[in-house]
Amino acid sequence: PMLRVAIMGLGSYGSRVAEALLSCRAAKLVGVISGTPSKVKEWQAKYNIPEKNCYNYENFDRIKDNQDIDAVYVITPNALHKDQSIRVAKAGKHVICEKPMAVNAVEAQQMVDACKKANVKLLIGYRMHFEPKTLEIVRMRNAGDFGKILFFQGLSGFKIGDPGEWRLNKQLAGGGAMMDIGIYSINGARYMVGEDPVWVTAQEVKTDPIKFKEGVDETITFQLGFANGALASCLSTYAMNNLDRFFLNGEKGFAELLPATGYGPIKGHTHLGELTQPHVTHQTLQMDEMSAIILKGKKPLVPVDGEEGVKDMKIVDAIFEAVKTGKKVDLKL
Ligand code: NAD
Repeated sequence: PMLRVAIMGLGSYGSRVAEALLSCRAAKLVGVISGTPSKVKEWQAKYNIPEKNCYNYENFDRIKDNQDIDAVYVITPNALHKDQSIRVAKAGKHVICEKPMAVNAVEAQQMVDACKKANVKLLIGYRMHFEPKTLEIVRMRNAGDFGKILFFQGLSGFKIGDPGEWRLNKQLAGGGAMMDIGIYSINGARYMVGEDPVWVTAQEVKTDPIKFKEGVDETITFQLGFANGALASCLSTYAMNNLDRFFLNGEKGFAELLPATGYGPIKGHTHLGELTQPHVTHQTLQMDEMSAIILKGKKPLVPVDGEEGVKDMKIVDAIFEAVKTGKKVDLKL
């Protein structure tokens, strides 16, 4: 069966997902939700989308009556995700929502609750959860190849350009680098270590307070402690380009991904040798797998459901609290 998807938010990432969907075997783009009529026309022509599957932000609740759409993929600025996802759920459609799923854990939990109530699935756009080299490391870890896991390092950053873009606007982004790119290290720490952290400490520096206003973080280092004794040490920044590295070490050996989360190809090796899994367009793989999760109840090796997203948002909240107070913050995930 085909998962019939409508994309909400026809921006740069929405366009990437639309292109990737062309190569999917189990998912296809059938509709759009946009506030810009000219973009809708363009996408209709490019992807052969019928007029009846085109909506705007005022009328998209009517998608409820559209039998030709199974799921809506929300790809708008972060602060809009919560309300939009809840409206999609109330319209009875499955929700795929981009990361960060919301701007804090309270909102994220509201999304989970709304989807549960509406009896629809909620999945977060964590494309790395389907990436073959990443999954090989998870498989090797589960098989004991690294021994008892004791350390993870996650470095996530890029130098943000346009000072006018929504990513630097607290109202729309909910924060700065942490929400946008640091979340890869947060999420990565959990799937690489294979556990949830129990405490957080964090430190912030801001070299450009004009570009990065109050509530918009530029660079934060943070540490996560795990119940089994493992530690993670991570960096989130909007000030450095080409910063994208995961490193996992256990009693027996290591795995490194460099780059770890870019659009690929991902490169990696372990103490046992190179990782040779072939590159597949992340979003193509993601959408085919999400189709299987939604339509066939498939259980992925690394989960991508709303509850997973809530955990990441709880860690984001705790990191901001640790930065503010300078204290260790306990986590209950
Ligand atoms: P973008 O600015 O290119 O696109 C955002 C879209 O939302 C635009 O088409 C814009 O018109 C629309 N929009 C609707 N309402 C808006 C409003 N009130 N204000 C501003 N824009 C509005 O951004 P993007 O890079 O496509 O990011 C969108 C989402 O996708 C973000 O949540 C981001 O974190 C996520 N994203 C995920 C990945 C990934 O690899 N998973 C990569 C990039 C972006």
